[in-house]
Amino acid sequence: MANSEYEYVKREFEFDRRLPPSNWIVVRIDGCHFHRFSKIHAFEKPNDENALRLMNACATAMLEKFPDIVFAYGVSDEYSFVFREETEFYHRRESKILSLCVSYFTSVYVMKWKDFFSNKELKEPPYFDARAVCYPNSKTIHDYLAWRQVDCHINNQYNTCFWTLVKSGKSEQAAQLALKGTFAKDKNELLAQQFQINYDDEPAMFRKGSSVYREKVETTVKIDDYGTPIKRPRLKVTVAHVDIIGPEFWENHQHILRE
Ligand code: ATP
Ligand code: ATP
Ligand code: MG
Ligand code: MG
Ligand code: MG
Ligand code: MG
Repeated sequence: MANSEYEYVKREFEFDRRLPPSNWIVVRIDGCHFHRFSKIHAFEKPNDENALRLMNACATAMLEKFPDIVFAYGVSDEYSFVFREETEFYHRRESKILSLCVSYFTSVYVMKWKDFFSNKELKEPPYFDARAVCYPNSKTIHDYLAWRQVDCHINNQYNTCFWTLVKSGKSEQAAQLALKGTFAKDKNELLAQQFQINYDDEPAMFRKGSSVYREKVETTVKIDDYGTPIKRPRLKVTVAHVDIIGPEFWENHQHILRE
């Protein structure tokens, strides 16, 4: 485009923040006012399975759209997306990366709503905030993901107790009071003794959150002249509800965080 006398407004006022090189980039998005959003759409408490599956479908679409995202972890109304260390996505421009991630995720959320809530009208536009944080090596990325999964565990254990008490007839205030100052062990005992619930039997998606990554799967690429299927390993975006705090998952999936 030809320069005009007004072009200085870009040259002198617009500045790009580029995220530092040789760092993993995490974009974390979080639903805005989802306490209210979940209420007006009558999400099941404490965990609406369809709402979580919709979030997972959006995250899967993100990995399919943006090859430089190597891993995603989601719980409740949040999702973290890990870009590979050497990504040159939009020359690492922070505002581009953030705005593309959050707008694409939100659009897919709206487009796929009906697939997960066929009987529920979308009453308000969902919207999400986003931030980017850089981590210098795979250890800190691992610790970041462990931090989110520990948070998932603590919140889910509390919410499971809270809503079990409320569903049994306690007021929200009384349930809150009953759980005040309790430790993890106390909460498990409360569930077991008062309600015959073994916390470990709760669905893994609720307890562990959702991890999204590419997994090698044997895929039929063609059938040869003798009718024998020719299989090749292909990377497919997968959702799993597994422990990502301990070393085991990462030992078995070394390609994900390879530096
Ligand atoms: P903010 O705008 O500050 O993020 P928020 O209302 O979204 O506020 P969060 O701390 O992000 O608050 O918590 C998310 C809320 O959304 C929780 O109250 C949770 O109960 C609700 N929520 C999100 N996903 C689900 C789900 N799958 N099932 C039930 N409730 C959900
Ligand atoms: P980038 O991703 O770099 O922004 P782009 O394809 O969006 O690439 P832009 O420079 O933003 O390129 O130009 C927007 C394009 O969208 C133009 O080519 C224009 O033809 C098309 N477009 C946008 N709005 C309209 C419209 N209302 N009617 C017709 N075409 C439109
Ligand atoms: Mg939120
Ligand atoms: Mg949240
Ligand atoms: Mg454009
Ligand atoms: Mg590094």
